[in-house]
Parts: sequence; structure tokens; C-alpha cells
Amino acid sequence: MAGERLSPERAAELAANLAAVRARIAAACTTAGRDPAEVTLVAVGKTFPAADVAHLVGLGVTDVAESRDQEAAPKVADVAALLDGPAPRWHFVGQLQRNKAASVAAYADVVQSVDRAPLVAALANAAGRADRRIDVLIQVRLDDPGDPTAGPARGGAAPADVPALADAVAARAELRLRGLMAVAPRGVDPVPKFARLAELSANVRGAHPAADVVSAGMSGDLEAAVASGASWVRVGTALFGCRELVSDHVR
Ligand SMILES: *Cc1c(COP(=O)(O)O)cnc(C)c1O
Repeated sequence: MAGERLSPERAAELAANLAAVRARIAAACTTAGRDPAEVTLVAVGKTFPAADVAHLVGLGVTDVAESRDQEAAPKVADVAALLDGPAPRWHFVGQLQRNKAASVAAYADVVQSVDRAPLVAALANAAGRADRRIDVLIQVRLDDPGDPTAGPARGGAAPADVPALADAVAARAELRLRGLMAVAPRGVDPVPKFARLAELSANVRGAHPAADVVSAGMSGDLEAAVASGASWVRVGTALFGCRELVSDHVR
């Protein structure tokens, strides 16, 4: 998809979507009495072409995310080739296998989905070999254990495991612990889930004061996330449109 030109219609659609998302964030901040500058929009471009992502970056989006390594690795290069200005900050937000750590470490500035100790070691080692330092969020699972609709597909550490994982990340010089990430479970009120995440974040900050990022909120629930203190919102559909259903983990 590199080099593919956007139609004027698509360019206008992306610009309008971005304006609408920015307005939603601003309104949510006003309601919550927060400064919109505290909230960073992370555009999740999975399944959409590099030209779409590059266009949003040209419109001022600083942070972009992907959730599958096989898609992200070429797209990072394609987006760079389409841009005149500086590259965006690339986030990896998908479930990560240890054997992909080296690939992801080559392009990701931030990995938001670290959820188990072996992954911490693999990512730190890969970052070291690539001579990079990678920002890390610990992904927390907010499903209720025992909820029959809760699936393992989304990943995330159990809340009880978060403090030890945070310590493990902070202990590695190749990584920088930045905070926590979560995806609200489908079909439930996100408000108590985000409140729980805020509580876990306060806990982590007790031991690691600089780890103050809370990545929460997507197209459907960004207002609730901003209300509970989210600092990064990860928005796909509201910016790019609906994804075709490929599989659960690209959703
Ligand atoms: C796809 C995805 C998003 C964006 O979801 P939308 O509902 O399309 O805004 C956010 N976070 C993660 C981890 C994702 O995989």
C-alpha cells in the first residue's frame, strides 16, 4: 500500500473524523474539568492502509498504534516513506508473542500490551540488542474472573500480578515503565472498570512515581475513560471507519 494516494474524499473523511474525535475528547475534558492537553490521542490504524495513517499524521496526530506485528512492521516503513515531516511515535497494542519481541522492538517506541514476566525479559533483551529503550505499559485484564462472556483473547495481566510485573519492567534499563493499559470488557458498564484501573494506577505510582500513564478508552468509551483520568485514548473506528471482521484479535 506504500505510495498509494488518498482520494480527496477519503482525505476529507479522515480530517472530519479527526475533528470529531478531537471535539469528543475536548468535551469529555470539559465535563471532567480536565485540560485537553493531558489527553493524548493514539490513532489505531490496524487493517487500514499506510496512506490513511500518514494523512492523519500530516494533520497533527503524533501517536499511532498497530496490534499485529506482521501488519505493523511493513506499515511503519510505508508511513515513513509517505511523510515529509517527523515520524509519529509508534505504539504496539496487540497481544505479543515472545518470538515477535525482536521484530516489535525494532520499530515500536511504546509497547502497551506487556502482560507477563517472560515477555518483559524478551522485550528488554530485544531492545538491548537493537540499542533502543522502549516505553512500556502493563496491560491489565479487567474482566471479572468467572464471567462466562470473558474470553482470554484480549490478554492482560490479572490485577494481582501488576505490582510484580511493574517492578520487573522497572528493573530493566532497556525499558521504561510508563503506566498501565486496559481494554474495557465488552457489554458491561465501563465506568467501574476504568475506576478500577485508576485505582491500580495509583497503586503502581506509589512504587514508581513516573509511571503515570493510563491508556484507556476506545471509540465507544473514550468519554468514560477521560472521566476516570485516562491520559492516552486509543481510537480506531471513529477515525478510520469500521474494520472488516478478520478475527477476534484484530477486532
Ligand atoms: C483496535 C483497538 C483499539 C481501537 O478500537 P476502536 O473501538 O476501533 O476505537 C484500541 N485498543 C486496542 C488494544 C485495540 O486492539
